[in-house]
Amino acid sequence: MVNVIDTLEGKRPAGEKLRHPEKAHRPDQPIARKPAWIRVKAPGSPVYVETQKIVRDNKLVTVCEEASCPNIGECWSKKHSTFMIMGETCTRACAFCNVATGKPNPLDEAEPENVAIAVEKLGLSHVVVTSVDRDDLDDGGAEHFARTIRAIRARSPKTTIEVLTPDFLRKDGALEVVVAAKPDVFNHNLETVPGNYLKIRPGARYFHSVRLLQRVKELDPEIFTKSGIMVGLGEEREEVLQLMDDLRSADVDFITIGQYLQPTRKHHPVVGFVTPDEFKSYETVAYAKGFLMVSASPLTRSSHHAGEDFERLRAARAAKRGG
Ligand code: SF4
Repeated sequence: MVNVIDTLEGKRPAGEKLRHPEKAHRPDQPIARKPAWIRVKAPGSPVYVETQKIVRDNKLVTVCEEASCPNIGECWSKKHSTFMIMGETCTRACAFCNVATGKPNPLDEAEPENVAIAVEKLGLSHVVVTSVDRDDLDDGGAEHFARTIRAIRARSPKTTIEVLTPDFLRKDGALEVVVAAKPDVFNHNLETVPGNYLKIRPGARYFHSVRLLQRVKELDPEIFTKSGIMVGLGEEREEVLQLMDDLRSADVDFITIGQYLQPTRKHHPVVGFVTPDEFKSYETVAYAKGFLMVSASPLTRSSHHAGEDFERLRAARAAKRGG
């Protein structure tokens, strides 16, 4: 299990900034012991090390590392990593997220090209690009996303591109800029049920996020839309089913549902571990509600198996249109 013990906990090297200054005053939350069904591959295989070197050599940031993703051993051993653009410091402070909060640096103008070079070197058939929230930028970073998509297309025209974006809240016209760059998949995570927003995702608005996904489909019906949530944050099953209906009303194609894991003692505690059977049940219901693709399991993450899932998504749409 790759759970980073946060630098809040007293082992911070001299001069290094607090990763989550806004959480420093919070009382410690006990970290629940993980059940037997949550088992992950240890990092360190030769391909893992090769992936790590390409990431470092191109000065890239990955959400795999920044979010302490439990799947990093598996994904990097298959050269699959998710690039996080626009820096490693986020302007928001969600209660579940291990990405550092603070005032970000100016954008790195060379980053779109560096991401494109890394995609080419890794030989990726499918790439996921995400970012921190950049509420400080006039367009929320939309043009930087679009530049990155275009740079990848120029170097690797056969690579399919999935973006996992922030909500661009109060940034008129930003979404349109990203959609015009034509990613193959537009992913924006709802993260949790609406009743949890104030405590889990306080800087966001649930219906704005649903509407954003709906708008992508209105602007370009060929782009696949995708959204994900974490469970184990105290939500009721009925709330998850209602959220599925909200996403289907916005014509979202693909839903991902995974278990929330607490990154540090300062983050929101795990309220419950959802069993594999309960995940299976969510999957069955979600397919019945009309999603083209569903990934629901304890270790499901937005970008886990994204390449294989994209192929299945494309096949599912083709089958539906043919039938
Ligand atoms: S699931 Fe996504 S974030 Fe986690 S290691 Fe894999 S690619 Fe990275």
